[in-house]
Amino acid sequence: MSENCDQNCNGCQENCSDRKEEFDFSAPANEFSQVKKVIGVVSGKGGVGKSLVTSLLAVQMMRKGHATAILDADLTGPSIPKAFGLKEHAMGSEEGLMPVYTKNNIGVMSINLLLENESDPVVWRGPLIAGTVKQFWSDVIWGDVDYMFIDMPPGTGDVALTVFQSIPVDGIIVVTSPQELVSMIVKKAVRMANMMNIPVLGLVENMAYFKCPDCGSEHRIFGQSRLESIAAAYSLPILGRIPIDPKIAAACDAGKIEECEGDWLDRAADMLIRSVNKDDETAAGSTSDAEKAATEEKGSGTMKIAVATDRGSVTEHFGHCENFMIFSAENGKIIGEENCPNPGHKPGFLPVYLDERGVNVIISGGMGGGAVDLFNEKGIEVVTGASGDMRKAAEAYLSGDLKSTGSVCHEHNHADECEN
Ligand code: ADP
Repeated sequence: MSENCDQNCNGCQENCSDRKEEFDFSAPANEFSQVKKVIGVVSGKGGVGKSLVTSLLAVQMMRKGHATAILDADLTGPSIPKAFGLKEHAMGSEEGLMPVYTKNNIGVMSINLLLENESDPVVWRGPLIAGTVKQFWSDVIWGDVDYMFIDMPPGTGDVALTVFQSIPVDGIIVVTSPQELVSMIVKKAVRMANMMNIPVLGLVENMAYFKCPDCGSEHRIFGQSRLESIAAAYSLPILGRIPIDPKIAAACDAGKIEECEGDWLDRAADMLIRSVNKDDETAAGSTSDAEKAATEEKGSGTMKIAVATDRGSVTEHFGHCENFMIFSAENGKIIGEENCPNPGHKPGFLPVYLDERGVNVIISGGMGGGAVDLFNEKGIEVVTGASGDMRKAAEAYLSGDLKSTGSVCHEHNHADECEN
């Protein structure tokens, strides 16, 4: 409870545990705004490139001919105006506040466009931040917008949550970088999204690699990415990978992000366009965009699928199988296989063993619930309920035809330890 509490919950925006009445956090849109799709861009912490991805997504959609806007909700680190070289102040009238438009007509509202001096620090606490973001939604005359991108406050805590409660967000894109604890961040973002009933549309990896300007070879500066397996574990598509590129940093610094060339977010743009088109179709029974894109992702890039086998067929008892046949796949096709005899059945050992071999997906007939959790913690997807020829099972997975039944092995019901 705040020290200024007057026990009158009506009108108070603090989300405190002593609240007596439910407060409706949702804010109405401005009467002169028609925004078709609102996409929140989130990250686990500051500095991973959330604002960069927000800006590049807006630029990409603008280049495809859509009316685009950015609501900069990162009030304590607003970097959108700088990336677009916006220096003027936002102007207001009786009807509301006008966004400032970039060279290519992207509407932007940011606290930096209202401050006397753009370097003034904003050291507000959560409720004030959320209240201001709400005003950016309700008091700004956005006009007709096809795609609005919200540069969210960093993190997946209270402030982000309250912003999501205020604005009708249609989907979330999570930005990660390879030097973070990606699996934890994705888990938190998915949990927050579930609480709000908002779908996570996919993941974007920033600073994924560095391409040598002389020889063109790609270097993983922060080590091998674990994003693929984490995306597979949560059935989320990877919507793009952005390299570390001094030209990107220079473009942000010079306010010329609209001139930045790169097809890194093409997949994200296509997914967003599909999601708007889908609104015209009947939703009933149709596969979600995230699922469709996840299936597409299975058909692109490289991955390793371990099938627990007995004499060439998918085994029923994961931990006691004879072999793990590890299929390497590229662009949806099997390009190699490696037969690994089962090294033995010790609790907790196989998840480590298969993770070290770079496996992204396990296919089995059944598996103990404890083992499923251990694999998922490592970002490895588990598909159970499979049977028959091992290669056909892997191919069915790649084509999106093999769905997990979630079948848990009941023969060994001591859940946490069983790996069967
Ligand atoms: P966040 O919004 O997550 O706090 P920003 O998008 O503002 O992070 O990025 C932080 C800084 O890092 C910016 O100065 C930006 O120009 C730079 N930066 C981000 N991603 C890249 C990249 N892929 N290559 C080069 N510089 C980058």
